[in-house]
Amino acid sequence: MKKHLLGLSILASLAACTPSEKVTTSVEPAKVEAVKPSAEQISAQFSQFAEQFINEFWQINPGYGVYVGYYKYDNQLPVPNNENMAADLAFNKQKLAQLQQFDVAQLSASQASDYYILQNQIESAIFWQEEYKGYQWDPSNYNVAGVFGVILNTDYKSKDERLLTILERMQNIPAYYEAAKANITTPTLAHTELAIRQNAGAAGLFSGAISNAVDESGLTAEQQAEFKQSIEQSVAAINDYVSWLEGKLEQIKTDDSAKDFRIGAELYEKKFALDIYSSLSAKELYNKAQSEKSRVHGEMAKIADELWPKYFADSNMPEDKLVAIKQLIDHISVKHVARDEFVSSIRDQIPALEKFVMEKNLLEMDPEKPLVVRETPEYQRGFAGASINAPGPYDAKANTYYNVTPLDNFNDEEAESYLREYNHWLLQILNIHEAVPGHYTQLVHSNKSKSLVKSIFGNGAMIEGWAVYTERMMLEEGYGDFEPELWLMYYKWNLRVIMNSIIDYSIQVNGMGEEDALSLMMNEAFQEEAEARGKWSRARLSQVQLTSYFTGYAEIYSLREELKEKQGDKFNLTDFHNQFLSYGSSPVPIIRQMMLNP
Ligand code: ZN
Ligand code: ZN
Repeated sequence: MKKHLLGLSILASLAACTPSEKVTTSVEPAKVEAVKPSAEQISAQFSQFAEQFINEFWQINPGYGVYVGYYKYDNQLPVPNNENMAADLAFNKQKLAQLQQFDVAQLSASQASDYYILQNQIESAIFWQEEYKGYQWDPSNYNVAGVFGVILNTDYKSKDERLLTILERMQNIPAYYEAAKANITTPTLAHTELAIRQNAGAAGLFSGAISNAVDESGLTAEQQAEFKQSIEQSVAAINDYVSWLEGKLEQIKTDDSAKDFRIGAELYEKKFALDIYSSLSAKELYNKAQSEKSRVHGEMAKIADELWPKYFADSNMPEDKLVAIKQLIDHISVKHVARDEFVSSIRDQIPALEKFVMEKNLLEMDPEKPLVVRETPEYQRGFAGASINAPGPYDAKANTYYNVTPLDNFNDEEAESYLREYNHWLLQILNIHEAVPGHYTQLVHSNKSKSLVKSIFGNGAMIEGWAVYTERMMLEEGYGDFEPELWLMYYKWNLRVIMNSIIDYSIQVNGMGEEDALSLMMNEAFQEEAEARGKWSRARLSQVQLTSYFTGYAEIYSLREELKEKQGDKFNLTDFHNQFLSYGSSPVPIIRQMMLNP
């Protein structure tokens, strides 16, 4: 096969350039001297390797490609059977071996970080198959809807063309779900229940939106007939999977054979190391979150002392500081925007944030990449909220949208509760996090790094950590004039991030149960019951991801403090931010290495 040949040629030429113990077995020392390539040649070889890796990665993961705007293989739905899984594993092992032929010390800073990101990506894929084995116990791994939804709703070619792509891609749906059933040997209760819910929704996409689109299309009568038949088959395959899962669920409940959803200490540490890419272990991070929680409680108690007389002049402050803080938060949360002004008030706030960042010269802003605040498009509305919708690496010129979902679907009580949560102060912090100088600003900088590797395999802890870091940085720089109410709300918001780390580890590793988790979140992080219950569900279904926000934030903040210490008077916050963001969405420990040893 062609791709293997190219791989071998890279291997051979690199063997010649890096006389390390890894390659000496196959290369004569004399030969090493003879063809020592230049730095440019090594750089070119690495670029070629990375490009080749990405091209082949899309062949294996066409659906992921569709998500980031790479549509070349949009008509393909890989079947997760033994044969394909073995091929994936072989691909990753081969690529890892090839990657390791490069000597990182000889690469530029940008390529060295790409090296580590690729290594991390490949090792994660190998870990997933050989150790984590979610394909055996997480039935919600299997769901075809997402990518079909993106193809249906993204305007990258004409609607009729997209429908024909969908038709082709639907052919493998029955085989896909047959393979899924063969893979699932030890399902957990929580993941089985989730898979039943989600796949029932998936069937609706085909019998609903896709079927309607066919009716309204310009496809020929013959094509439409074929399409309808294919929809019937697809829906039947999905429904069969759902009823098979319902049977499984009944069975594991009856004979008590469900696998524990907790992955335990050993797998958790490994998954943490690969998913987060931190300089700390999961255990160390957990301890750090615990002490940060105490520090934040202390700061909140000071603010409570200060604010209590202002709002509760006639009553004594409760002895228990946490109770007093909770009362204050509840009391001041009534200051919020009107429900029909939710979207417009967010839109109005962005210029003020931009102005503050520019006046204080906190970091570089690109006026040519404006942020467009819009109501979340209907098909993207899962639950209320706000999120950044950034262009993928293959379409970097497209707009960045700040999607805000209006509160249309809420009754009065729900709307009031939501608005109290995103009250006058918290809304500003949300906008810092999502937009300026949080996610939106970071992504504008990231797109400048021009590394496809970094934009495709960007590190989640760095991306979330940056947004969380900017909340504190903005307040420290005087955004909001050090208003105690703003700081109090900030700490509440920050506690959520800290608590995410604590409960994820507590539940997955320490075996914490629902009651204890809920009381921790409600009493020590001031969360409403509904929010805490939602978090409990999420912490059962995923592992490690909830720690990404706090890990990234803590590491960025300590890096900054370390550089301040080291550089003394020469430390410049603007330069720190611009330089930090210049490496793309690389893991923080890699950025750290590059900033400390340039
Ligand atoms: Zn109200
Ligand atoms: Zn975020």
